[in-house]
Amino acid sequence: MKPYNFYAGPSILHPDVIKEALSQIEAKNGLSLLELSHRGKVVQQLFKNTQSKLRELMQLDDKFEILFLHGGASLQNCMIPYNICTQESANYIDTGIWSKKSYKESEILRPTDVLGSSAEQNYDHIPKNINWDGKGYLHITTNNTISGTQFHNFDFVEKGVVVADMSSDLLSQSMNFNSFGVIYAGLQKNLGTAGGTLVVIDKNLLEDLPQVPNMLNYKKHVEANSMLNTPPVFAVMMCNIVLNWIEKQGGLHVIEKQNQLKAKMLYDTIDSHKLFEGFVQLEDRSLMNVCFKLEDDSLKERFETSLENNNIVGLNGHRSKGGYRASLYNQLPLSHVEHLVKVMNNFKA
Ligand code: PMP
Repeated sequence: MKPYNFYAGPSILHPDVIKEALSQIEAKNGLSLLELSHRGKVVQQLFKNTQSKLRELMQLDDKFEILFLHGGASLQNCMIPYNICTQESANYIDTGIWSKKSYKESEILRPTDVLGSSAEQNYDHIPKNINWDGKGYLHITTNNTISGTQFHNFDFVEKGVVVADMSSDLLSQSMNFNSFGVIYAGLQKNLGTAGGTLVVIDKNLLEDLPQVPNMLNYKKHVEANSMLNTPPVFAVMMCNIVLNWIEKQGGLHVIEKQNQLKAKMLYDTIDSHKLFEGFVQLEDRSLMNVCFKLEDDSLKERFETSLENNNIVGLNGHRSKGGYRASLYNQLPLSHVEHLVKVMNNFKA
């Protein structure tokens, strides 16, 4: 039997998604999608269709351009400070390892301010009362995959240009995406497989871009419709299949309800169980990455054996944090959480 997969990314793919991917890869009466030139009609149509599905699901205004790039979310750490509001300030909120990597990259390129940080509390919360004057841009990481925190309040987005790394929670909930300046995400969690990065960018930010190398220049990528070089066709194909799957579930409102249910079930178990405790302050808990630990470390081996015996994989916390992390991305069924909760409830000292 296939294991119960709680990996943080690359992450679980629904069997229907895998089935559809196999049928699209297989050449039936001609060449597979993956053998075709990206200049040809089929691949061009795939990109167009994927962009319009995203536009519809995210209810995006016309002011946004949608790009599929290489280099993972990590390359955006350099493209953002290289391209965006370069005459003004680059501001960051430090909520974990990924946001730290973002501001460290910005520091290489230009003066950078960190307006808030939870580093000293081991990233157990989202810093509040951020004092940003609305100038330049403010970079946030909406969901912190490693520490298990998530922004649940976005009041500050109206103040100016907000750049959001949504790698681990994009399309997990409905929200007003139109208030952001740039949204980016590696595709390997809620959007399919590794190998591609989605960038949604307000066209107004593309005016007066500085001279930067072509492959790092958003405007060049927009002009070439993400085909400045050979694009990540496989990742976009997978993203397209996943977007169809989301549509079939009933869209983001239905997905969001399902995600809330899964997270509540697991957090309730952690909170009511004598042997487990959460890492994160309650109001900032992530619905995507549920991080917890054993109150008594000497039970580690027994708990991990019981996970193994029950065919549960991917539950180890990030190496920097330890403990456990259950990633509950969109395609993880409720039945997987029910199974994990049962195993935890049966676990006795
Ligand atoms: N940001 C976040 C929030 C992430 O979770 C990750 C990867 N887990 C990254 C950035 C880096 O993504 P990539 O590997 O696509 O560069």
